[in-house]
Amino acid sequence: MELIIQQNCPSCGAAIELHEAGRLLQCPFCGMRNYRISHGLSRFVLPDKAPSHIPREEIFYAPYLRFKGNVFYCKGREVQHRVVDITHLAMKATALPLSLGLRPQAMKVSSVSEADAGSFFRQSVKVASIFEQVAQLTAYDSEQNRAPFYHRAFIGEIISYIYLPLYIHDHILYDAVTNKGLARIDLGRELQEKSQRFQDQWLPKFIATLCPTCGGALDGEPESMVLSCHNCNSSWEEAGGQLRSLSWQRVPSQQSGGKDTAYLPFWKIKVKVTGVAMESFGDFLRLTNQPLVVRPEHDRMDLCFWVPAFKVRPQIFLNLAKNMTVTQKRLPVGEATMSKGLSPVTLPRTEAVQALKTILAEASLNKRDVLPLLPGIAFHPQETDLVYLPFTINGHDLVQEQTMLSVAGAVLRFGQSL
Ligand SMILES: [Zn+2]
Ligand SMILES: [Zn+2]
Repeated sequence: MELIIQQNCPSCGAAIELHEAGRLLQCPFCGMRNYRISHGLSRFVLPDKAPSHIPREEIFYAPYLRFKGNVFYCKGREVQHRVVDITHLAMKATALPLSLGLRPQAMKVSSVSEADAGSFFRQSVKVASIFEQVAQLTAYDSEQNRAPFYHRAFIGEIISYIYLPLYIHDHILYDAVTNKGLARIDLGRELQEKSQRFQDQWLPKFIATLCPTCGGALDGEPESMVLSCHNCNSSWEEAGGQLRSLSWQRVPSQQSGGKDTAYLPFWKIKVKVTGVAMESFGDFLRLTNQPLVVRPEHDRMDLCFWVPAFKVRPQIFLNLAKNMTVTQKRLPVGEATMSKGLSPVTLPRTEAVQALKTILAEASLNKRDVLPLLPGIAFHPQETDLVYLPFTINGHDLVQEQTMLSVAGAVLRFGQSL
């Protein structure tokens, strides 16, 4: 499920709702577009229903870490995956629930702001601990299946803090969302000393959406990780609070008029590999034991992986990455010209790179031989291109023109909430 976030417009202050993965904020009131940069973990508060006799300054906020994303793991002869959406208490407190359960999915949250006048407990649990929690979910499987474990990757995850509001009345600690008593407590003042007030650096940060090359307005969907300039045909990603130009191309549709075409983005990642002898595309075909004759022209091709640059369910992500990588010889070189129908990039390239081992494992027809090699293999990305490939819209399916690989349109829409 997706969090709905209440956020004030950075330009005019109006209250806007956006989805958790939302980056490009278009204000319906002042019309300004602002782009949210990645900057620490986002912090949200659950809305409280504390009784009116509790002063706002006496609300306490307890931090929970949230993980939402996919986990892939390779074990025995299998590549497995899970969609994970969990929260875990980020401080030591026996009176508080260890997890928020389903609450964050069922209600809107707000970005933390100075209007939250109470005291925030400091997190005493490292962010890495949420990854350990998620890893344990995959380790649990191995109790039934004791096959050797070779690899684990977290892909497309969003990590954030969600604060649970609390208050104390008559020496009872209450959950301010449900107004249920949690524990008897005698040390209210001491609690306040262990906490801190709202910090300015917790606020999300935004940048303007003007093309650094030509000054034109950049385009994108709300969840785009890449912004496009249709004026000078440039593509931009955010890095360290600034827009950085991106090497990109689009393979034009051969359909007449091209009107029923969707362009889906892929990261084409040229890699060097250590730990296994794999220097060319031909080597990749041999190592993964593809059922085709490896020819000299395969050996002259660079070793490139094609990874979906959008969020979809894990099995579809793996299938697309595997099939596009194996059939890449059919894909022509594109051109850097904008077009209608460009689907948004919602999976950043750093996440795509983390998926490479899993894609190699999934593509291998001889998993028994290849999976044990994974711990010793390292991928070193050399060049990345963002490539938009043409898919013909065919009823409910999208069919890639050159490779004929198809994907259900509904799957893409579903992916937007992943
Ligand atoms: Zn505004
Ligand atoms: Zn431009």
